Amino acid sequence: MGEDEYVKCPHCLEEITSDSDFCPHCGVLFSGASGQMCDLHPQRPADGICIICRKLLCEECEKIIHCRAFCSDHRAVEVQQDWARVFQSTDINESELARSFLEGAGHKVLVQNFAPIGFMWDGGGDSALSRSALSKPAKIFVPIPEYLQAKESLEEWKSGAVETKDVDTE
Ligand SMILES: [Zn+2]
Ligand SMILES: [Zn+2]
Ligand SMILES: [Zn+2]
Repeated sequence: MGEDEYVKCPHCLEEITSDSDFCPHCGVLFSGASGQMCDLHPQRPADGICIICRKLLCEECEKIIHCRAFCSDHRAVEVQQDWARVFQSTDINESELARSFLEGAGHKVLVQNFAPIGFMWDGGGDSALSRSALSKPAKIFVPIPEYLQAKESLEEWKSGAVETKDVDTE
């Protein structure tokens, strides 16, 4: 064989490889993972994994939000499809800088409520007025597997520990 075979997760119906022990989209554990224990409670069987940090979670540790499993540290992370929000601001300039920084650091980004450029889910306004006055906060998402790293680099960047590299400012 050698090639990955894809099947649908019975829980969330997203595509996963047939040999997966868990679903990276919703955090449900499959039979291959039976015998796995909660990272926090080694005597309790794990029921799922946090889709952000992939910690094993027992029923008590697991927070299910919109059918996806999160640990207590990541339950507040906003997730849309397979993207997790790392940044939010009503300041468009700060948002543009954060986006440039993340792109410069090699992350794939998806933005919401940025106007008028970029990918938009809500088709937000593109007039000069809507650009200067953001009624909804601009949001930056990265793919879920990149969340932890992106968040960390962003925190360092915000605290000024990282010099902004040559970012395109055109
Ligand atoms: Zn799933
Ligand atoms: Zn987590
Ligand atoms: Zn636990």
